Amino acid sequence: MSDWKEYLDRALAYHGHICSGQILGLRVVLKGLSLLGMDPKVPQRDLMLFIETNRCMADAAFVITGITLGRRRLLMYNFGKAAITFLDLNTDTAFRVSVNSHIRPSKTEPDLVAFWSRYLDDEILTVQKVTVNLKPEDRPGRPQRRIACSICGEDVLDGRDVLLNGREVCRSCAGEAYYRSAGTTE
Ligand SMILES: [Zn+2]
Ligand SMILES: [Zn+2]
Repeated sequence: MSDWKEYLDRALAYHGHICSGQILGLRVVLKGLSLLGMDPKVPQRDLMLFIETNRCMADAAFVITGITLGRRRLLMYNFGKAAITFLDLNTDTAFRVSVNSHIRPSKTEPDLVAFWSRYLDDEILTVQKVTVNLKPEDRPGRPQRRIACSICGEDVLDGRDVLLNGREVCRSCAGEAYYRSAGTTE
């Protein structure tokens, strides 16, 4: 298994600082890849990631796997948890790797790399074999479905539309909008 310290320079360049989240993220990702028998040194074509946080750890996953949001091989579940599930799209084998929360460096820890080096993976990570119910429309590849929202007219891809009073609409028009119109720009 690769040494997580080999990736610290790249993590620093991408994320901007080395924090416990980066270090734990590197370790979670290397663990997940090794469970699936995947080599972190080569680009992963059959890997899909389910990331449960949008904090520091998520960047470590991008650093090692090269998988970014737009590649459709990453789904974000913002559960606020330090955990990532690794799915082999070829075999549907999946493992969820999470961080045990009982070990924490003090706020004044001068050397986080040395601190986390003291712990073996088994002491800080929990592994579960899991089944992921990946919907066909969430698999990588060409869009399986594209409809125009019957209210705003904008295109909705990948089955993200919903039925509202029998009409296919986007989630914003169905009442899930995170924004509201503040008038036109002119
Ligand atoms: Zn960070
Ligand atoms: Zn709409």
